[in-house]
Amino acid sequence: MSSPADLARMIDAARRVVVFTGAGISTESGIPDFRSPGGVWSKMQPIYFDDFRRDEAMRREAWRRVYDGVARWVGAEPNAGHHAVARLIAQGKASSVITQNVDNLHQDSGVPDDKVIELHGNASYIKCLECGLRHELEDFREPFTDRGEIPACRACGGLVKTATISFGQAMPEAQMARAEEETLACDLFLVLGSSLVVYPAAGFPLMARRNGARLAIVNRDPTEQDAIADLVLHAPIGEVMTAAVS
Ligand code: ZN
Repeated sequence: MSSPADLARMIDAARRVVVFTGAGISTESGIPDFRSPGGVWSKMQPIYFDDFRRDEAMRREAWRRVYDGVARWVGAEPNAGHHAVARLIAQGKASSVITQNVDNLHQDSGVPDDKVIELHGNASYIKCLECGLRHELEDFREPFTDRGEIPACRACGGLVKTATISFGQAMPEAQMARAEEETLACDLFLVLGSSLVVYPAAGFPLMARRNGARLAIVNRDPTEQDAIADLVLHAPIGEVMTAAVS
């Protein structure tokens, strides 16, 4: 069996680490894993991108979920796992964090924006689907919750949506390209809290492995790629990472 000390040695020996995070790192901050049994998507239908664009009732429901705090993103704080990742970045040991999460907790733990590659976008702010202008969640809260006004872009009047990648929406090309570049440049690919079942995201550890990098996986449960990993720890991420990263 591997131990956090083995992971520490692996990190020490690495020249350039890329960290890859999934829902499991944020469950320790109280954010539910949407895809797990009993998770949000087993109780509530996701809203597909085309339906959001097409149907005002769907948009209204989407905004209701945002402002009801259904996902519990609002008010969540980074945990020991996020802080350990931030230390790896600050030490120059890790070059970037590729994340499937939309909760902004890597940035909140002090990782600079340009070191976080968000494959599924970010739920902590709003973006215009037409002109790309950023708006804040608070900009539209009162008009929506008090008067039922559906948010629209202040610059162009276009449709706005949280900056997440919805079901049925194309993956963000620039972020995917950067993730690939980073994956191919690392010699240790460290997975934290992903069961590695959602593609194309789960393709990155495979790509790293094929390119000769070592692969380490820390996850509560077994993952699809445990068999090809150099190190696997089925344990809480905060605990492992606090022990492995000084
Ligand atoms: Zn706009």
